[in-house]
Amino acid sequence: MKGRLAIWMLCVALILSACQGSVSEQTTGSETDSTAETEKGVETGGETGTGIYANDEVFELPGDLIRSNSTVVDDNKTQSIITSQESYQIGTYIKISIYADEQAPDKLFDEIFYTIDDYEKRISKNIETSEVDAINAAAGIEPVAVSDDLWALILQGLTYSELSDGKFDITIGPLVDLWGIGTDAARIPAQTEIDAAMAMIGYHDIELDAANHSVYLKREGMKLDLGAIAKGYIADAIKQVILNRGYAHAIINLGGNVLTVGTKPNSDYWSVGVRDPNGGQSDIVGILKLRDNSIVSSGIYERFFIENGVRYHHILNPYTGYPEQNHLVSISIVSEKSVDGDGLSTSLFVMGLDEAYAYAETRDDIEVLFITDENKIYYTDGLAEVFVPTNTLYEVVGAYTKSE
Ligand code: FAD
Ligand code: MG
Repeated sequence: MKGRLAIWMLCVALILSACQGSVSEQTTGSETDSTAETEKGVETGGETGTGIYANDEVFELPGDLIRSNSTVVDDNKTQSIITSQESYQIGTYIKISIYADEQAPDKLFDEIFYTIDDYEKRISKNIETSEVDAINAAAGIEPVAVSDDLWALILQGLTYSELSDGKFDITIGPLVDLWGIGTDAARIPAQTEIDAAMAMIGYHDIELDAANHSVYLKREGMKLDLGAIAKGYIADAIKQVILNRGYAHAIINLGGNVLTVGTKPNSDYWSVGVRDPNGGQSDIVGILKLRDNSIVSSGIYERFFIENGVRYHHILNPYTGYPEQNHLVSISIVSEKSVDGDGLSTSLFVMGLDEAYAYAETRDDIEVLFITDENKIYYTDGLAEVFVPTNTLYEVVGAYTKSE
């Protein structure tokens, strides 16, 4: 009981510190308005919402949900009321800020936090009653029918597994569990254990039945892990909740997966900081000016441990069985949908700079910013006008050419 109270108090303290402007250990991009100049958007701001709810609509939240009250700011610059709430869910800090003519109702945040909780209960491989856990438990035994959402998420995950030729693999679960990075059980496994876990990885061995929306992992011991893509998917779902309730201007931050809704009400772009991979949690390398975009980062500074001077981080290479060691320290993806940014940030990280940059150039719908261990920043052309560097410790090179 004493232990639970201590954990609860710790979480409250952390939430309070988050409220004061610092960001979570997982934050890969951080939202900021402090240092950036803003730029007029091309469209005028839409109508701000009213959030109409039926009186009897109830969103049942877990009793132990860690959540703040609303912070309400009358913002002259955007001529709007900014209502923000924070929570601690899916192992990370969540901050949602709604910009509107009036204070956004608690019920909107109830619905948002309920939505996150609902996904977590279905997607987390660490929750025994989740759909993913049911799939994993039935590996090698039988197919499991899943909800439409999870079906769609698995299909998305397979897209990234295919495009990266398995460098991103949604069946990486056994290797993630073995290394335990980010948990108290983190350790360097023996090579025999790594070999055994790697033998259980293989997205080709997922059998899908579209008619029944059922998923079958063909070999006993296989495990789905959607941790590299789910936050983006959930962020997109929250955006839809906000839009459905008639709000047109908001910023969603799921532990650094930042998704912006529209522009600010006065048509200004949002300013989203890109985390300094060598700095503290609120340090940034620069700012991206965005509207209606997602920015997701993956890096070696999020979850890691250091042993004998080597950093073992949580982005694993399914081909080697080890945390991916290349010259990248972080990758940030700007995309329309956050699920794409999330899937691609992890995929491109494992690809490494040469392959990832070449791939990014083939896509008109995404922009990518790379930070290397030599403190160089490269980015695809579309970010030239959008990225404002703020940190002189980094050399901003811009476009990357392979010989460098
Ligand atoms: P990303 O780069 O997007 O993803 C890295 C993660 O993806 C790794 O942690 C690993 O899980 C997986 N991965 C690593 N390598 C690969 C690869 N090559 N291919 C595919 N996947 C790979 N954290 C907690 O501490 N406690 C919790 O209770 C908890 N619950 C969660 C519940 C849900 C539904 C989700 C989505 C996440 C939860 N998390 C929790 C966080 C989770 O464990 C991951 O750490 C997090 O999703 C990593 O996201 P990221 O953006 O930091 O990094
Ligand atoms: Mg990811």
